[in-house]
Amino acid sequence: MGKIYGEDVQVKPAFPMARAQKKGVSGTSGKGLLLYIHVPFCKSRCHYCNFHSQAFNQVTFAWYFKLMLQEIELWGKRLKKPLLRTIYFGGGTPSLIPLHQLNQIMKALDKAFTFGSDMEVTIEANPDSATDISYFRALLTMGFNRLSLGIQSLNDMELHLMGRPHSAAMAMQSFESARKAGFGNISVDLIWGLPNQRLKAWTAQLEAVSRMRPEHISAYNLTIEPNTVMAKLCDEQEDLTLPPEQEQGRMFIYGAEYLESMGYMHYEVSNFARMGFTSAHNSGYWDGSDYLGLGPSAVSTIGRRRFTTPRYMDEYDAYVRGGLVGEDHELLTDDNLLKEMVMLSLRTSKGLDLKEYRKRAGFDLIKRQQQLITALHREHLIRINQGRLRLTKNGMLVSNVIIRRLAFDTD
Ligand code: SF4
Repeated sequence: MGKIYGEDVQVKPAFPMARAQKKGVSGTSGKGLLLYIHVPFCKSRCHYCNFHSQAFNQVTFAWYFKLMLQEIELWGKRLKKPLLRTIYFGGGTPSLIPLHQLNQIMKALDKAFTFGSDMEVTIEANPDSATDISYFRALLTMGFNRLSLGIQSLNDMELHLMGRPHSAAMAMQSFESARKAGFGNISVDLIWGLPNQRLKAWTAQLEAVSRMRPEHISAYNLTIEPNTVMAKLCDEQEDLTLPPEQEQGRMFIYGAEYLESMGYMHYEVSNFARMGFTSAHNSGYWDGSDYLGLGPSAVSTIGRRRFTTPRYMDEYDAYVRGGLVGEDHELLTDDNLLKEMVMLSLRTSKGLDLKEYRKRAGFDLIKRQQQLITALHREHLIRINQGRLRLTKNGMLVSNVIIRRLAFDTD
């Protein structure tokens, strides 16, 4: 029994998790697709956010829900019921979806796609809309086996500055409820590098979060996007400034080293996991696997075809009801795919497979970029071993610059 928006919901399992039908499907990878469902609704706008989301209301949600069920059916038919490796509900705030409708989406997915036996099924939740044990039990019953909790900070002043609609106490209660309900794979999202935050405050956050013992931690560096409340606040208040560059460097390096000392593997620039708990969905994306994105503004890549779903609800309506799902696509060139391989793989601890690069590019990256590689190596920003090029922690700090140069300066 789950309770949300004051209504009691009886949840019957959407699908039996044990069932597995593995078969390759033409046009999609035999290993299975990564499926992403975009939920473009939030309770309120966080001060730093520039993602595509809108205020939740029953009327717009009902519109979205109907279209989502249709889009699922259309993609299922178009791709001939492909095998799924992962399902990921992201947003936005997926925990705003009423439970009985979430269960209907899961049932529609089960009908339209083929579920893998060991499929990772993640839902993002915010502490203000996911608090009680019964809610999390209902999620488990539906087949969700991984929770990504948007805690962001365990400091009320920082949460207030970020415009988050929850307190630290609510975040801890939400985490505890999920654990008690039986979630054995919980990821916690944090944001660091907030205005006026310093290393001491950031390490205090990490210590508090590690005591909760989540299986996975995503720690994102705040970037102040134009036209956000945070940008306005920093413009208006002279005493509100981002930590200086050197301090941000210390926060990143010490933060990562602290988490490693607590048993978390630093497997991507912003992601840390205990052994066996890396995100299969995100890892698949960084490995260049096929992914299908459903919902307004979602993007899909299947082989060389890239599909982009319209961003706004009226356009999404025309796209789904007009039968345009999976019609228009951009064809990715060898060069596009090669650059994406560099950009995605260098963010991970596995790094770039130089032999694979040579096979695809027809030239050796190290020879082609010899001067740059030597300079990066001399500055301890990269390492090359066992045929792979990886960023060091210092390199990860300036990953955007290095990756751009390695990916784009080869022409
Ligand atoms: S909950 Fe997430 S998507 Fe929604 S406004 Fe906040 S940061 Fe943006």
